[in-house]
Amino acid sequence: MFRKFILYLTGFCFALLLLSFSGCQSEQADTYSSVSIEESSAWALSQETPALPVSGTELSSLDETENTLEETTFEEAVTEETSGEEIPSQTTTLPEIDAETLINCSTTLYTYDQMEADLHTLTAAYPSILQMTTISNADGTEILTADGRPIYVAYFGNRNASQQIFICAATHAREYMTTQLVMRQLAHYCATYETGSYNGLSYREIFDRTCFVIVPMVNPDGVSISQLGLEGLHSEALQTQIQNIYNADMAAGYTSYDFATYLTRWKANANGVDLNRNYSPGWESVTDRLTPSADFFKGNTPGDQPEAQALMTVMNGLSNPRLALSYHSYGALVYWQYGQPEPLWSANEQLATAISDLTGYYLAGYSNEAGFSNWCVLEKGIPSVTVETGTVPTPLPLDQLEPLWQQNQDMWVMLGSVY
Ligand SMILES: [Zn+2]
Repeated sequence: MFRKFILYLTGFCFALLLLSFSGCQSEQADTYSSVSIEESSAWALSQETPALPVSGTELSSLDETENTLEETTFEEAVTEETSGEEIPSQTTTLPEIDAETLINCSTTLYTYDQMEADLHTLTAAYPSILQMTTISNADGTEILTADGRPIYVAYFGNRNASQQIFICAATHAREYMTTQLVMRQLAHYCATYETGSYNGLSYREIFDRTCFVIVPMVNPDGVSISQLGLEGLHSEALQTQIQNIYNADMAAGYTSYDFATYLTRWKANANGVDLNRNYSPGWESVTDRLTPSADFFKGNTPGDQPEAQALMTVMNGLSNPRLALSYHSYGALVYWQYGQPEPLWSANEQLATAISDLTGYYLAGYSNEAGFSNWCVLEKGIPSVTVETGTVPTPLPLDQLEPLWQQNQDMWVMLGSVY
């Protein structure tokens, strides 16, 4: 009886400690952005550290994890963990994980669902260095794509670090191999956090100094169209809309592909808006397409698409973003010129040069107006580059994945050691 009382008392103290920690995180989340890590914390707390799968196909059903998230409140999760016979240790021992086998690199069709499952697995395995959530508006409502998908953001390293580095991938649908690349980077840095070093700095030092804010798939609807065709969309109305956009693109002479091939080469979101033409800087001057299309249509007003709003919400929530990197394909080059004044001109050239030195990608000049990097540089006033991976037309074939990995494996730690 007395032992049970001590256990409850210890559990209560630990719960208080966790709740106060959660309170700090909430405040921090408010200053960072409207997104909250509480849900992912609750989810992580409610899970036993999973036996890590040896391949992506052995993951448990995502529905199960979603149900757990809905059914378990934060308080319940804490109580469950602390009222049992085992008192959890407060010092986290990071599990060993083989990044090569967690992220499925045997196919190019690395889907939104697979990414979602892998994010849950990694967050549960490494709760002390990785949190993730879906992106919400300032009022707390979740931002959903046209087909109803949440957009995920992961925070890797020290969530309370004084600065952040932002990386996103798959803004353009058919460039989805960039999601696989960024997820492999995330898994790799989780696995090597304790042991890795770069340029005389341990990974732990690098990631303690800087929080890496990652949106691995900006455009999940578009990626699903490019990977799975119309079957990738839940909404029949959207399926009809995509068919209508194809007919219009055919009539206008923008495509001569058959429908199936056209879909694999889809670049926009499910509204037929090119998300790298939807931001305010120079938006007025973008006139390539005036109606929804597989690519190049800028939307009806700047920032009218949920995916663009999601990225701006995350960026505006960061206390001290040092730079932003947007992965695209293809060209093996780095865009960095956005008409920015000094000292941003030189700062962005310096960032682009460091990336070029690491990857071997060449420095390109000016890209297009109204892109995410344009917005970061001209509206946020921070260095930002668009990195084009791959050397053949998209979707990139599987044999491009290993070169992409070799060229970009050290990207985060390189950036973290310089900034
Ligand atoms: Zn692109």
